[in-house]
Amino acid sequence: MNLPEAGALLAAECARYTELGWMRGTSGNLSVRLSDDPLRLAVTASGLDKGELTASDVVEIDATGAPVSEGALAPSAEAGLHGRIAAVSGAGAVVHVHVLAPVLAAERWPGGVELRDLEMLKGFGRAAHDDLVTIPVVRNSQDMQALGDAFEAGWRADTPALIVARHGLYVWGSDLRQARHRTECLEWLTRFIIEA
Ligand SMILES: [Zn+2]
Repeated sequence: MNLPEAGALLAAECARYTELGWMRGTSGNLSVRLSDDPLRLAVTASGLDKGELTASDVVEIDATGAPVSEGALAPSAEAGLHGRIAAVSGAGAVVHVHVLAPVLAAERWPGGVELRDLEMLKGFGRAAHDDLVTIPVVRNSQDMQALGDAFEAGWRADTPALIVARHGLYVWGSDLRQARHRTECLEWLTRFIIEA
């Protein structure tokens, strides 16, 4: 996939998340893998209304979140965590949205949000019965290295999500569609446990 193709996909996905109310203000960012070796991602540019992105509102970054070339647009401030998640997990796409339910769940269960015996866990890639799923929670930080270290310390290959307390949700998958499906299911799951 080249950068303009990635930009078109990211703009379309951002419009869908905006429609759901999960990218309020200029919050949230999405990335998709461009190449494996060296690892390169396309990430949405910083500070833009995510409901109005065009295919060119995208920046190519390396595994540390640094832009690969000089350009007018800056990558998202959270690009460093996208790079770390993609490098550690092998994900093809990473979603970061400021969706409320997972953040409320993390407020109640700061040691990790436990989910089990819920049909929607199948949409998250786990079993609907007798499979305890714990979504890790990490403290918020503006330091992407610290956030990345906290993510990696709690990372498990079968649990493609991370909640940053008082901030938002990261979910990843093989591509943007799988990452979105997982995000949608996890939003349902966390809303269920806080409202049940
Ligand atoms: Zn954020």
